[in-house]
Amino acid sequence: MQALLPLVLSAAALQSLQPPLPVERPFVPQGRPLEGLVITIDPGHGGASHSAGYTGSARGVDSRYPEQDLNLKVSVHLVNLLRLAGADVRLTRSDDSRMTLNPLEGPPTSRSEELGARVKMAAESASHLFLAVHHNSFSSPQAHGVVVLIWPTDKRGNDQPLEREFADVLREEVEAAVPHGRRYNHYLSQHPLVTFSDQPSAVIEFGFLSNPEFDRWVTSPGNTRTEAVAVYKAIERFWRERRSELEAERTRLFPAASLLGREPEPTPAGRLRREMLGGMPPDPVRSEEALRRYAEIVRQSGGWLAVRVARQGDRMVVEGECSHPLVAAFAKTLVPDGADFRVRVLPPARPMVGAFPMASVWAEPALASGQTDQVLLGEIVWVRGATPDGSFLLAQTPRGGFGWVRRDALEEPDGAWLGAARKVRFLADTLVDDFRIPAGAELPVLREEADRVVVALPRGVRATGFRKEASVPRDRVAPVAAEAGRGLAAGAAAAALRYQGAPYLHGGRTELGMGDAELVTLAWASQGVRLPREAAALAACGSLASSDGEVPPGAVLVFLGETGLPETVGLGLGGRRFLIAAPPEVQVCSLNPEDPVFDRGLAERLAFVRTLP
Ligand SMILES: [Zn+2]
Repeated sequence: MQALLPLVLSAAALQSLQPPLPVERPFVPQGRPLEGLVITIDPGHGGASHSAGYTGSARGVDSRYPEQDLNLKVSVHLVNLLRLAGADVRLTRSDDSRMTLNPLEGPPTSRSEELGARVKMAAESASHLFLAVHHNSFSSPQAHGVVVLIWPTDKRGNDQPLEREFADVLREEVEAAVPHGRRYNHYLSQHPLVTFSDQPSAVIEFGFLSNPEFDRWVTSPGNTRTEAVAVYKAIERFWRERRSELEAERTRLFPAASLLGREPEPTPAGRLRREMLGGMPPDPVRSEEALRRYAEIVRQSGGWLAVRVARQGDRMVVEGECSHPLVAAFAKTLVPDGADFRVRVLPPARPMVGAFPMASVWAEPALASGQTDQVLLGEIVWVRGATPDGSFLLAQTPRGGFGWVRRDALEEPDGAWLGAARKVRFLADTLVDDFRIPAGAELPVLREEADRVVVALPRGVRATGFRKEASVPRDRVAPVAAEAGRGLAAGAAAAALRYQGAPYLHGGRTELGMGDAELVTLAWASQGVRLPREAAALAACGSLASSDGEVPPGAVLVFLGETGLPETVGLGLGGRRFLIAAPPEVQVCSLNPEDPVFDRGLAERLAFVRTLP
């Protein structure tokens, strides 16, 4: 007898599910100690190797790792820590390019134009501090240590004690964390980055790439993070100890800076609320319309909100159900303060199985209310609610949308259905006496008999004496490639894990900076599967899975934002663990409260889990 389902999950794919770094919570600032600080971070170099006349830059003596990439990786990590701590941060570059736009023909922009552009950004933002991030190189491989470049006077020759103190604190904190040989004094350098800026500014050179020991250390996983954390601690300490001097210096240099105070960026929830209410305070008429529109958007993104609005005198009464506490919380911001708001969150999902050859999914709990989808025989749907008389169930189908299915079209699943290891998909409509199994239905295999396959039926049919099984010709069915799919999914998870520890960068797609949806799409692209990039579109990929069970490798976890809509995605690693690109870095998290990397915030925002491919 032929093996129905070849096992293709390779041992290599499973072994490579080992993360490169220990699984632990990354360093995150406590509170917002840097509130009020404006700072410019400049990852040194970048883009020069694409310019005419390029003569090569510093690289690891053995690793050959380019300096500009190390600088960017440390800087992006540092920017995350500073922002988490409440600082207003400018980053001069986030890709491999210069800041100046080179002409396509003719000589490239000069070094002084390039460095001038970086200094200018720090001045235009009226930054309290300006820090350029570099790694050193020297002709002797013995050179080994931290070097801070400053210039102790401003452009008019006045002393800059703050700059000197900044350098002291930087060197102290970095030397405490980064391997070094001899101790270098501040290098008083007429470097354009420090001489031409009157703000306290410094260039940090973490170590010599020409030194084999430092090269090996800095290119090992997690060590650019060590550098970033050390610099973060220096900045946090300097701001704590010297805040009033830094504020005074800023006011002296940029008298208009206090007026520059940036409008706080509106949060996505604030923006959506303004859009829904037309920028006006909520009143009963506006609220009712806003709730109707919001419910529509929630449903389009795979969630559920149904409300009934009534008036009791002047008082607005809002009653209904929704799929997630964050949906209720946002909906509440759309109604006037005194309103009676009673929107409850639906109970957790429980699986049921399609028992009809096909059953309509209705827009409303009534027959012929508008069919939105169909549930095929054997399909698992996730039930969240019911009409008071129990005749219709509110279910989420594998394709993601909510809708109403009549109760008698669904069956409680038994062991054969949940976690069935082997299933077949029907290639053509197949009759079992007068009961039709439609093409596309996927049913568990109970056993194989010569040229026939015995499949489970959710509810017996008369022809089999109501036994919950049927024997069908083998050529009517094809194996559901569950094992092959699992191999791909494990491959995707393994590919994503290689980015563990990479700094978070919105929209980033490399190990020098990685975004959340980008991590998931790159992981699956490694297996030849193209996914959309928006969290809302990812929320509709693959099939809906239980969100309170295991998170299979490669599964997409969709997390809601304060809008109650999909905002962030992660990638399943098996068990209850997943990988997510979130500030400050790509990290392993868990939905299990017992796990040291449990993340309560994310667990509470989880909307659903979708399995791929
Ligand atoms: Zn450099």
